[in-house]
Amino acid sequence: MPELAEVRYFSQRWRPGLCKRITRIHIHAGKRVFRGTQTAGLSRSLVGQLLGKIQTHGKQMMFRFGEDRWLGVHLGMTGRLSAKSAAHLPSKHDHLILYTSRHALVFEDPRLFGRIRFDRSPQPPPWWSTLPPDLFSRDFSARRLKQILQKRSRTPLKPLLLLQDFFPGIGNWMADEILWQAGLDPRLRAGSVLHPHAFRLHRTIRKVARQALATIGKNWSDPPRSWLFPHRWSDGGRCPRCRKPLIRRPVGGRTTCWCPACQKATLPRRTR
Ligand SMILES: [Zn+2]
Repeated sequence: MPELAEVRYFSQRWRPGLCKRITRIHIHAGKRVFRGTQTAGLSRSLVGQLLGKIQTHGKQMMFRFGEDRWLGVHLGMTGRLSAKSAAHLPSKHDHLILYTSRHALVFEDPRLFGRIRFDRSPQPPPWWSTLPPDLFSRDFSARRLKQILQKRSRTPLKPLLLLQDFFPGIGNWMADEILWQAGLDPRLRAGSVLHPHAFRLHRTIRKVARQALATIGKNWSDPPRSWLFPHRWSDGGRCPRCRKPLIRRPVGGRTTCWCPACQKATLPRRTR
């Protein structure tokens, strides 16, 4: 499932359409990806408009057309964005194509878990304006993280980090990477993580998110070999730091990979 960095990468596939006018639209109006969206209004409102802005926030993308037209894209499990030539003919899973004079901006989604929204309003619509604080924003502070850890004190860290209301854009591999780099066992309950571990966790969330955007998000290149990332995908991997065998087992219902030596099940005593 696409996470923050993959979402950024795919949002940039539509960059060739920036400042270009939409000349026509191809749409599979009855498909589930358009649930709750007026597809007739979408088609009518976008033709003739310039694509003015591309933004991402966690797993949500926003494309602004003109001053007051907002197209939201969520990739779900198998959604993809790409830019093809203007001669591109729609294929079975191309549920939305925005044509400019030179390109076809394609949204494809074989499994239909993605979602396309459209609104016309002077201000950004609620699906964009009510998103929780971005991981890089001032509002996502160490203080906020400590409040989340206390509020969800009984939740183990791994499933906690996957809650999009608190950590927009973090998915399975990023959560494993963050906990490995922070030296925290994914099964630890959130309420046991106090200062200075909470502070370290906050710093690590931002570090992993930033580097994921700089590699996968930029050009789909792999994160560093020294990360857990290249070693976590199959059984039999070894910790790149201590070379001990990694554990792969479900935590909170999701496959989780961690190093039992580097990520202790109990925390050292709180230091003041
Ligand atoms: Zn290790």
